[in-house]
Amino acid sequence: MHNVTLIKGDGIGPSIMDQAVKIIDASGAKIHWEEADAGMAAFNKFGTPIPDATLESIDRNRVAFKGPLTTAVSEGFRSINVELRKKYDLYANVRPAKSWAGVQTRYSDIDIVIVRENTEGLYAGLEHYLTSKRDIAESLAVVTRHGSERIVEYAFKYARDNNRKKVTVCHKANILKYTQGLFLETAKEVAARYPDIEFDSKIIDATCMHMVMNPQQFDVVVTTNMFGDILSDLTAGLVGGLGLIPGANIGADAALFEAVHGSAPDIADKNIANPTAVIMAGVMMLDHLHEHEAANKVKTALEKVIAEGKYVTPDLNSNAGVGTDVMGQAIIDAMA
Ligand code: NAD
Repeated sequence: MHNVTLIKGDGIGPSIMDQAVKIIDASGAKIHWEEADAGMAAFNKFGTPIPDATLESIDRNRVAFKGPLTTAVSEGFRSINVELRKKYDLYANVRPAKSWAGVQTRYSDIDIVIVRENTEGLYAGLEHYLTSKRDIAESLAVVTRHGSERIVEYAFKYARDNNRKKVTVCHKANILKYTQGLFLETAKEVAARYPDIEFDSKIIDATCMHMVMNPQQFDVVVTTNMFGDILSDLTAGLVGGLGLIPGANIGADAALFEAVHGSAPDIADKNIANPTAVIMAGVMMLDHLHEHEAANKVKTALEKVIAEGKYVTPDLNSNAGVGTDVMGQAIIDAMA
């Protein structure tokens, strides 16, 4: 039995997480869910977005399955997502984007994995006003050799373990010569240790253009925190939208699995959110727990339901979309 901390999250979180949990339970994987609060829901209940009991649960279990959390765009309300990644040193954020049979998009043969550095860069949280009038603000980007080395090493090891051929490092070292320069220099050193994997480097702005025009040239992409955040939404757009992309946040001794998307307040409580991203995050979690058979079972059933296109949410089929719960049940039926 695996103990997993379950955070259902805000907005569409509870509705999609309920389906994901039901499906994982039906897969035969032996998971004991320990439910915990975080985000707006926790703030409204306990006056804090991350209660101690939630941290104690993650401390114990070292694996968490999390729905999206709302982060208010204001001072004083910190991002719990960023905080959890920093607290547990979840330095690798792995976001696979693959074309789905049955989802109509411009390309049908995309298979890109974004490996985003998750603890440093411009999201290190070092921001302040420089003047009392608040007319100059400063943000510090922190890049370390250690942080760069371990994330690029992760990307190459991921490529080798998953039978992938190429790693592209994306950077802006032409302008940010110290921070991005250190990242690129370190990436080149790591690449030399993996002669069996092709290595390429691209400037981030050119990467965006190439990714839209010729995405098939990308395989594994490794980059710094903010570039990875933006690029993974771009790859989501290429394969059919944010409702489809999972993310694994991996550290040396803890891991947190979630969707790339947020709490989607515009569609909350309407039973139309696509549960695919969190279900695929669940598949990544099952693989992490070595429950490979259950992971394959869930993935195969999900692929079948999406390919048939009958029991899918409206973002995948605007003519005949069904509810989140109906899509969830169809996946359970497909597993049987
Ligand atoms: P969002 O990802 O919540 O939504 C962007 C658009 O995508 C919306 O139109 C939404 O309806 C759609 N969408 C997202 N998920 C979907 C799904 N599963 N099915 C169908 N459509 C889906 O981004 P946002 O609106 O910028 O952010 C809302 C809140 O979520 C903010 O408070 C933000 O800080 C937070 N957020 C949290 C996480 C996280 O918890 N990891 C990630 C991103 C944003």
